[in-house]
Amino acid sequence: MGKTASHITDELEYDVVIIGAGLLGLSSADSLISRGLSVCVTDIKSAPMEGVSFCNSGMLHPSQASPWLQLGFSEAQRLSVGKDVLSLATRSVELITKRAKDLGLAQCGRAKGCLQIFPDTDSWAAAAQRCDQLGISNQRRPAGALFGDKPALFYADDRSGNAYDYGLALAEDIASRGADIVMGQGAAPWIVDGRVIGVRLGNRDIRARHTVLAAGPQSERLAARAGINLPMKRAAGWAVNYRKPVDLDLPDYPVMEAGQCSALSVFGDTLRLSGSIGQDSADPLIKIWTAIAPQLMDALGAPIAEPWSAIRPVSVTGKPYIGRSALPGLWVNTGHGHMGWTLCAGSGELLAEMIVDGKSDVRFSVPAQAD
Ligand SMILES: Cc1cc2nc3c(=O)[nH]c(=O)nc-3n(C[C@H](O)[C@H](O)[C@H](O)COP(=O)(O)OP(=O)(O)OC[C@H]3O[C@@H](n4cnc5c(N)ncnc54)[C@H](O)[C@@H]3O)c2cc1C
Repeated sequence: MGKTASHITDELEYDVVIIGAGLLGLSSADSLISRGLSVCVTDIKSAPMEGVSFCNSGMLHPSQASPWLQLGFSEAQRLSVGKDVLSLATRSVELITKRAKDLGLAQCGRAKGCLQIFPDTDSWAAAAQRCDQLGISNQRRPAGALFGDKPALFYADDRSGNAYDYGLALAEDIASRGADIVMGQGAAPWIVDGRVIGVRLGNRDIRARHTVLAAGPQSERLAARAGINLPMKRAAGWAVNYRKPVDLDLPDYPVMEAGQCSALSVFGDTLRLSGSIGQDSADPLIKIWTAIAPQLMDALGAPIAEPWSAIRPVSVTGKPYIGRSALPGLWVNTGHGHMGWTLCAGSGELLAEMIVDGKSDVRFSVPAQAD
């Protein structure tokens, strides 16, 4: 896939070099290549999709466009942010569904909806009201016997799919369309005379007309080193994978629970519990699902791998940062928080429209001042 760093000479130049081969970097590359630009994607890991994008809950959920309550946004902010994110999410899910079909991923973008369970009727009613205000389709109904018939909302327009499979297929596809993917080396913006002219890797530099920072939770630190303010909140999440029990009738859509912002999803033979917010271990995640669905948890054997965790890149505005930074030559596509899978293709498209067509969209603007 792509080329290794040693096969690329210093003279090679690109229209765009991207820092980060996660969902956002790869989707940006995809849209830029479709518009005829030459692209190089770099990542510090040895393979694409090994950052936050590696093991998520797989929900394509425009229904969750509002920032999480736990992140400290007021109700008015949640509505206003929710409106902007919802419109990008709706477009994005449309693009992902089409792209997944092109990539031969039949199970990706499944139109089965998502269910969300609430700890009490007050939070349930508040969420239903917010959905109504935003125009998000929601059916009020009990969660079903397996989940203690707790109050729940069913979002029929949500979809789901394995983000990791999608990202790997996308990486292969963009490489086959001419992108170079340089793995295994940390990159930093290469600044000359107050302008970013590409990236600096450990053993060489790559020149490009435009540089895109899509380094997930590491974006804030990399931006700060370049004198750019890209403030993020930290929101750790966990994932624990089990073999799917064969003798239980599980719903064929993901099930979220609102109390700890976690979800139960099935990917083939694997059942994944994932999410939670800011916890030091996977224990609270297991505990909450044991309280909600004891019969299900009894039927699970031991996890099939060690618990996995990552820090979500959460912008302080609750909306992703997409666009031009204060430093000439440097663009940003990050800060998608709990919505990065849902928003990836729409964000990639928007960034490409900005770079290629000069489009601007103040809803997702990057903080203006350099430190
Ligand atoms: C438990 C969990 C469940 C989730 N569930 C969902 C869900 O159901 N639906 C949804 O929409 N979203 C979900 N999300 C959110 C979503 O997964 C993230 O928003 C998304 O993966 C972020 O993608 P990214 O490309 O910004 O970051 P990443 O995937 O982290 O990609 C950034 C890449 O940059 C690389 N990098 C960092 N520093 C450097 C450097 N100096 N040089 C080169 N490369 C560098 C990293 O190695 C990484 O590969 C979930 C997140 C978590 C943690």
